[in-house]
Amino acid sequence: MDACQFGRPRVGGVYVIAADQVALVESGTSLAKDRVLLALDELGIPRDKVRWIFLTHIHLDHAGGAGALLPHLPGARVVVHPRGAKHLVNPSRLVESVRAAVKERFPLYGEAIPIPEERICQAKDGDRFDLGGRTILALDSPGHAPHHLCFLEEEEGLLFTGDAAGLFYSGRLIPATVPPSFDLEASLSTLNRLYSLNPKILLYTHFGPRAGREGLSEYGELLVWWVELVKRALGRAGEEEVAVEEVLGELGRAGWPVDDPVVREDLAMSARGAMIYLRRRKGG
Ligand SMILES: [Zn+2]
Repeated sequence: MDACQFGRPRVGGVYVIAADQVALVESGTSLAKDRVLLALDELGIPRDKVRWIFLTHIHLDHAGGAGALLPHLPGARVVVHPRGAKHLVNPSRLVESVRAAVKERFPLYGEAIPIPEERICQAKDGDRFDLGGRTILALDSPGHAPHHLCFLEEEEGLLFTGDAAGLFYSGRLIPATVPPSFDLEASLSTLNRLYSLNPKILLYTHFGPRAGREGLSEYGELLVWWVELVKRALGRAGEEEVAVEEVLGELGRAGWPVDDPVVREDLAMSARGAMIYLRRRKGG
């Protein structure tokens, strides 16, 4: 279903897995809560049948609404990477990091309501969840963030990519290399591993399905090109925000939809995240 993230269609999604144990993948922000509940009603799914909310990672556009949904989904537990769990119980550091990264767009990310520890299930790589008719395999997938999981629905080969395979807007892959923890090498090995699992359909949180696994290898190539592009712009410009504008200018000339405000903001944030990565790599 479409979470209408930032008030826009086809930007952020929440998936509903219909099985004996109903599951959501992602929650959207807390601002999406009513839409998620309405979607369940429209699908004829009683709220107490929802047993799991699988979160690919704890960034607020993926996980921020889980705390707001839980009181309405009395049988549900939240599945999250062990490194993300404590930030769901106490979201204050997470909220501050989002505020720093997105600045004036912060109100669009809603609020993060703390999640009681007993409703959190920490998933390790290789953990399987039997929903009755569908099996969900948790896959440690660092790169976009160190606390990222992808989820593979094994019967049909559906891979919920979160942000590990980039953003996919209107047929175009967009880098998701946001601050503070993007790591190129980790991303590339995650993409190789996901590719080797031979998923049949990629399900992007941002946004929608894409048949085949080629999107994974394409994204790996895009990331290498992107980090190089940002590195060159930074070398020329010296100053980071000037370099961000240079990158956007270059992409605009190459036909990227940089006049779309959502795409522009995503690209600017990803450029900043790539610079943090480059600095870290240089320092270490
Ligand atoms: Zn993210």
